[in-house]
Amino acid sequence: MRKFTLLTACALFPAFLYAQTVTAPKKSAPLPIIDVHVHAMKVSPGMAPLCPWFLRDMPGSDPNSAPPSFLSTGCAIPLQPAHSDKEMQDSLMATMKRLNMTMVVYGDAGIIRNWKKVAGDRIIPGIGVSSPSDMTVMAFTDSLSSGFYKVMGEVAPQYQGLSPSDMSLDAYFAAAEKNNIPVGIHMGTGGNGMANLTSPKYRASKGDPLLLEDLLARHPKLKVWVMHAGYPMVDNMIALMGANAYVYVDIAGLIWSYSQVEVNAYLKRLVQAGFGKRIMYGTDMLIWPKLVETSLSVIENADYLSYDQKRDILFNNAVRFFRLDPDKYK
Ligand SMILES: [Zn+2]
Repeated sequence: MRKFTLLTACALFPAFLYAQTVTAPKKSAPLPIIDVHVHAMKVSPGMAPLCPWFLRDMPGSDPNSAPPSFLSTGCAIPLQPAHSDKEMQDSLMATMKRLNMTMVVYGDAGIIRNWKKVAGDRIIPGIGVSSPSDMTVMAFTDSLSSGFYKVMGEVAPQYQGLSPSDMSLDAYFAAAEKNNIPVGIHMGTGGNGMANLTSPKYRASKGDPLLLEDLLARHPKLKVWVMHAGYPMVDNMIALMGANAYVYVDIAGLIWSYSQVEVNAYLKRLVQAGFGKRIMYGTDMLIWPKLVETSLSVIENADYLSYDQKRDILFNNAVRFFRLDPDKYK
């Protein structure tokens, strides 16, 4: 999911300037930030550059024509992909340090371990299961009991056309509940043309946040956050969060892919509905390191958010949700 757009000045906002704007007076280091949605993946050479906020003008398409492309470099200065695992690691670790960030990371176990060697507690490892064919319940439980993984995610049954409440996943969620492991579940947006292009089983309807209700009822102690905030089903997202007091969301992915007007309208609606204490910052980082600054610029420039609301989204809400010790970040 990547395409054209004109990069605005805020996307190019130098990180050091950003750091100044989020830094409280008299403090030398930037205030801490937690990104709850980062993918650790092997970098394939030749990946395309990315124009943020590219999904603002969907192509008209026809099944008898060439498949639509959601990828474009039609913006002034596209974000460049890392060209190797080392380049990705060096760049991301440097950004984390400079911006005083901690990241919740999922994906390739070897890459996660490499990052953790360099960044220590700034990396919080997660392990995802999206269908029983990924791993057995026993293997999953063993992985949790190793103590390395602190989070279950990204769980994405929607790509298999499954509801998160599907019973085939229930034993995994039971293990997470028993071990006090928070769970991040992909709900809502997942890239455009997904059902046609790469994931024929993908169903938009399986991203409805209300599908979580049975799962939540079965596992009252399970801490669940809805990745991508159930975009674009904001009414159902609000209904779910209203009925279920412990559900949080992240705004990863949508924050840099849809038009900024749309992203801000969605975020504003969630805050306006009273859920500013349950929204967490995330990028959905893949292989473009500058997505960090691009995504942060959206929060930083949101004139409908107060300073305190920005700090909640960027840090406080994640500390509360993941039961982290805020004193460790001072
Ligand atoms: Zn996702």
